[in-house]
Parts: sequence; structure tokens; C-alpha cells
Amino acid sequence: MTFSVTILGSNSALPTTKRYPTAQVLNVSERFFLIDCGEGTQLQLRKNKIKFSRINNIFISHLHGDHVFGLIGLISTFGLLGRTNDLHIYAHSDLEKILTPQINYFCKDIKFGVIFHHLNTKKPELIFEDKNLTVTSFPLKHRVPTCGFLFKEKQKEPNIKKEAIAKYELSIAEIVRIKKGEPLYIDNVPVPEEELLIPPPPPRSYAFCSDTGYNTAMLQVIKGVDLLYHEATFADEHKELAKKTTHSTAKQAATIAKEANAGKLLLGHFSSRYDDLSILEKEAREIFPETYIVNDGEVWDVRCGDV
Ligand SMILES: [Zn+2]
Ligand SMILES: [Zn+2]
Repeated sequence: MTFSVTILGSNSALPTTKRYPTAQVLNVSERFFLIDCGEGTQLQLRKNKIKFSRINNIFISHLHGDHVFGLIGLISTFGLLGRTNDLHIYAHSDLEKILTPQINYFCKDIKFGVIFHHLNTKKPELIFEDKNLTVTSFPLKHRVPTCGFLFKEKQKEPNIKKEAIAKYELSIAEIVRIKKGEPLYIDNVPVPEEELLIPPPPPRSYAFCSDTGYNTAMLQVIKGVDLLYHEATFADEHKELAKKTTHSTAKQAATIAKEANAGKLLLGHFSSRYDDLSILEKEAREIFPETYIVNDGEVWDVRCGDV
């Protein structure tokens, strides 16, 4: 099952010709979950050949322009494309107040509902669930109320071994029961589970953390995450500026990744003051070697060795 994230925008406030402001799209079995929607997101979706009709859920971390200015344009385009499926937006409650008049003015003829779900910016909360996935929001530390998001696969059932089906002539009903954990008795003796079942792979997870100052409170939610995206607006030489603006340095992002025991760390939301971002990668790798600077258009598998 595909579980990958495409970087649509990786800069902070100022869009440049190389980097758009923050937006990403998570592909979970060809269902697309949009995370933040900076200016130009719809162009980046087109460029990266993401089907607009497969986006039904948008998660907005906070209400700074570099994370939301692309929304009204995208909603308008959905309308022009004849969309009829409802669009769900998970965001701070103020977004509904800000966007509704714009939708009523610019997009009066749209044939779909825009449904707002208000985030709890004080504590972690399960905000989305389907048969494959859960999404949990959790508070970040920024100048305005901000949430990160943890996307986690649900635990799958084990697979049944083909040899076991043949050996014990198992019916479909028996297979279903065994996969759910019921024991199989042959002459009143239970067959050992390892003879019947192949254990499922551990569920994969992706955490999105932008924007935030250094914030260990998030560790309780993201502990053990496979792939962590954490903002790294500044290099270490600007750590005072990071503190003042409630952003992180690459080193701080790496410390969080290390504490969380993450599999891999992606850095983004860069200040446009850096022509060469390798300094951020270098500083972070001293603390957490599996760190990578992201670029717009890149696709990252949530965990290698996909099954
Ligand atoms: Zn930002
Ligand atoms: Zn911000």
C-alpha cells in the first residue's frame, strides 16, 4: 500500500522561484490528504500530477498566510472542475469565519459543501479515521494557535500461510476466524499460531510539525514515528531569532527527532536568507544523522521496504 508524502512547498513566508510556501500531500493508497495550502499549491498539485478529485481532506496547521493563502484559489478551481464531493477542512475555528465570506462571494456556484472541523489547539485529539488511517492533531508552540498532525496506518490483520490452508483444508470462514485471532483446534489440540499466520508489518506513521519553536511536549504523540517532518527555519547562528519568532533551528528539529526515536527526519520551512541550505543539514546531522533537506516536488516514502 502506498504511503508517501510529496513536498509541494518548502519555504517559509516568502515564496521564491525555487521554493513555494508550505504545502504537502500525503498519498495513502491513492487517496490524497493535503497538509497546509500556501500560495501556489494548486499549481504545484498540477505539476506533480496529483488528481484534484482525490483530495477530500485538507489539514491546516495554523492561520499564517504562508500556510493558507492557496485555499480560496484551490476551492474556486474545484468548483470550475465540477466537483460535487464535499471538502473537509480541519483548521482553527477562525478559518471558517475568514473563508466563508470569500466562498460566498467568489464561489457562490460551487456544487459541493465545504465542511469545517475545528481543531483543538490545547491538547492532542483524534480528528479523522477511516479503515486504513487515523489522524491525530497535537499542539505546537507558535505565535498563534498551531497544530501538528500525526498520520498513522491502522494495524492490519495477519496473513494466513498458504501451506496451512492446504494442510488443514481450511474453509473461508475458518480463515477469517483464524486471522482475527481465534485458535484452530485439531483433535482438541490448538495449532501453534506461527504455523498458521504471517504477522502483519508494523503500522507506518508520518508526523508533520510546522511551525513551532522547540517543543518537547509533542514527543508524547510522535514517539517512534517513521518519518518526521519538522520545520527548520533557521541555522544555529540565528537561534535567538528562532526563539523570538517561535520557530526552530535545524539542531532543535534534530533533537526532537532523536528524542522521538524517529526513523528519518525531513527539514523544511526555510528562511529565504540562506542561499546554501547544506549548513542546516550538516548541523542537524551532527545530532540526528538520518536528516534530509526537502525540495519541492520530492516524494518521500514513509518507510522503505513497502509491503
Ligand atoms: Zn510558516
Ligand atoms: Zn507561522
